[in-house]
Amino acid sequence: MPRVTVIGTGYLGLTHAVCLADLGHEVLAIDVDAEKVAKAANGEAPFFEPGLEPLLRKNLESGRLTFTMSFAEIADFGEVHFLCVGTPQGESGQADLSYVHAALDSLAPHLRAPSLIVGKSTVPVGTARRVMHRVQALAPGGRQVDLAWNPEFLREGFAVQDSLRPDRIVLGVTSDRAEALLRAVYATPLAAGIPLLVMDLETAELVKVAANAFLATKISFINAMAEICEASGADVIPLAEALGYDARIGRRYLSPGLGFGGGCLPKDVRAFRATAADLGVDSVVSLLTTVDAVNQGRRDRVVALARETAGGSVAGKRVAALGVAFKPNSDDIRDSASLAVCARLAAEGAIVSVHDPVAMPNAAKRYPELGYARSVSEVAQGADLVLHLTEWSDYQAIDPAALARVVARQVIIDTRCCLDAALWSDAGWSVHVLGRP
Ligand code: NAD
Repeated sequence: MPRVTVIGTGYLGLTHAVCLADLGHEVLAIDVDAEKVAKAANGEAPFFEPGLEPLLRKNLESGRLTFTMSFAEIADFGEVHFLCVGTPQGESGQADLSYVHAALDSLAPHLRAPSLIVGKSTVPVGTARRVMHRVQALAPGGRQVDLAWNPEFLREGFAVQDSLRPDRIVLGVTSDRAEALLRAVYATPLAAGIPLLVMDLETAELVKVAANAFLATKISFINAMAEICEASGADVIPLAEALGYDARIGRRYLSPGLGFGGGCLPKDVRAFRATAADLGVDSVVSLLTTVDAVNQGRRDRVVALARETAGGSVAGKRVAALGVAFKPNSDDIRDSASLAVCARLAAEGAIVSVHDPVAMPNAAKRYPELGYARSVSEVAQGADLVLHLTEWSDYQAIDPAALARVVARQVIIDTRCCLDAALWSDAGWSVHVLGRP
């Protein structure tokens, strides 16, 4: 079995390293963030991901998973190097590839023996071939250093199960050797029947951004339907349910609400649009411009609705926000629609207090202007308006009658369309649900 290394121990890289070790590989993982490396080596996941920490500890104890900050060490250690560094949004929407270049520039000068670099980060089409030439020029091993692209589809909140049992494995390769090495790395999931799709580098890069563009389009589609429901008095919930029964459409990613956020979909949609613009593909540019605009419009809609329920202005009003993570079961607040709404209401003079089961430490660093409460009843104390922003299951279990006793006004906006509206109404609340009459 080839020995593997993982470069970058963020949400993707740490999960990948832990899961590869759990599949029986010897894995050495590297990051430039000393605190992250120290925590991970000590058995602490530097972020919240269900099931990850016990698996991290198990594989540390087995000795199969180790951590370092030395690129020379990872070059000596492994034959297959997985690249999992961030590719955040650049200034004009394009992907910022500086971390990809920095990591490869650090690794390449140490690569003397035949080796394979496997990109997992999400990148614009054409990146893999360009970086392959750059690495081969820098590496003493020259063309013995091969490059492949193996895009990652894991979902935060389900990252461990998605890594161990992905829907499919996509490989972009330029040589039989690269394919054989990756088949060996993924021997266990392949033996379990996980579909493998082998293709050229460019198509593999595109599979990832096309998948995210499709998911984002599906979410914006149902949110556009929510808007027409609001304008016409129809109800988006039974509409979505009825659409979802059509096997050609499907129910998943057809949930109306506040729209998508997080470290992937928004920036991937914008980066894909920037790539399409560079390539002169106007159809993709206009499609994704609309998808992004519909999505941003959901945040505007919630802010406007908050103003309406407050009689025209939220200035001086107490707003209680339930949830700040970009999605439940995660502490990730990158481009969180929930926090964007909170920050805008605070900027309009509202006194915003927030609660989240796990994401508050991250949010507090970024948004010190918000108040942070330890419980749902604390956050709602004296509130003029309650906003349900991230659909943690805990919030669906709230007793509306009990919460009524601590608020100043019984008004709630369910931006995720998943609370039991009848239960809240029966307890005396004025309930506003996006896309419902
Ligand atoms: P992240 O910010 O959580 O992690 C990136 C890590 O890379 C950080 O720990 C950072 O310190 C490290 N890093 C930066 N420069 C480095 C260098 N020169 N050498 C070594 N390490 C370095 O980001 P993430 O969410 O894990 O995303 C990583 C990539 O995976 C992105 O391209 C993203 O689009 C893609 N992706 C993410 C997910 C997800 O759910 N998070 C899913 C699929 C794909």
